[in-house]
Amino acid sequence: MIVQLKASVRKEQVSQLISWFRGMGVDVHVSEGSLQTILGLIGDTSRLDIDMIKALDIVENVQRIQEPYKNANRKFHPDDTVIEVGNAKIGGGNFLCIAGPCSVETEEQICDVANAVAKAGAGMLRGGAFKPRTSPYSFQGLGAEGIRLLVEAKKASGLPIVTEIMDLSQLKYFDEVDVIQVGARNMQNFELLKEMGHVDKPILLKRGLSSTLEELLMSAEYIMAGGNERVILCERGIRTFETYTRNTLDVSAIPVLKSRTHLPVILDPSHGTGIAKFVKPMSLAAAAAGADGLIIEVHNDPAHALCDGPQSLTPEAFLDLKKDVDRIVSVVHGGAEA
Ligand code: PEP
Ligand code: MN
Repeated sequence: MIVQLKASVRKEQVSQLISWFRGMGVDVHVSEGSLQTILGLIGDTSRLDIDMIKALDIVENVQRIQEPYKNANRKFHPDDTVIEVGNAKIGGGNFLCIAGPCSVETEEQICDVANAVAKAGAGMLRGGAFKPRTSPYSFQGLGAEGIRLLVEAKKASGLPIVTEIMDLSQLKYFDEVDVIQVGARNMQNFELLKEMGHVDKPILLKRGLSSTLEELLMSAEYIMAGGNERVILCERGIRTFETYTRNTLDVSAIPVLKSRTHLPVILDPSHGTGIAKFVKPMSLAAAAAGADGLIIEVHNDPAHALCDGPQSLTPEAFLDLKKDVDRIVSVVHGGAEA
């Protein structure tokens, strides 16, 4: 249930009302927006008398929320959520390009790529250390050593870093990681999601290979219900009957998600297409569709990459992409850019 308060409401009246709701056994999420304050009520609201609440003189309107996700719901929080990571910002008109290799391979590789993408205007560095691979015989990532090298690249380039966690036992290596990625395969690992709710870092949550957008939002809800409201959603392609691309990139997920949630939404055209030459057109499409950012695989030597070389851009191709994406972003967001 959401309770919209009148613009004239005083702070002590809001606190009194919140205490009363809490006394009735429901949790209250407060959203102080640019125009008005909204109280989102979570829990068993069946005991609340909607007509009585509507009649209070500080209340503008009361609405029941049908959707199963509450904290992530735009009705709870009409303004876009803006997430700040170091000097980078995402959401609310701030467009963020995250770039870097699929996997961290060597110190030279990750530092070279980090410096190149920083120069090209990326706002965050990606790099996998714990890799979810389809085959147990494929390169599994450097693990904790990969995170150590990523931290070196962060120092060298000044970029904040994002890397994937696959299991809770790995969390001890994430102290200097700025954003934790929960990958497509773990989107419904509910125990992991619950723990991410208690972490004091933003979470980049990728859509599962065959998950609906509502399931993605419910996974974000798991994290938010634990108290971590800094969730970035990522569309990365889903399984369909199509074989000419690695996945089918659902660009429509961007405006649909943004209509349903206040959380930032980004697109991963690298895993979405699996083919380097399709990464730029899909990036332009994402920017035009109103995405809050992109996550793009960039490698200094794609032909010899240990993972996902065919979909990786060279630093030069990334620079070219970034220039054109910036032009679209300035049309869509009126010039605001991270
Ligand atoms: C990745 O970003 O490296 C990755 C493995 O992505 P996904 O979880 O979308 O497959
Ligand atoms: Mn990859």
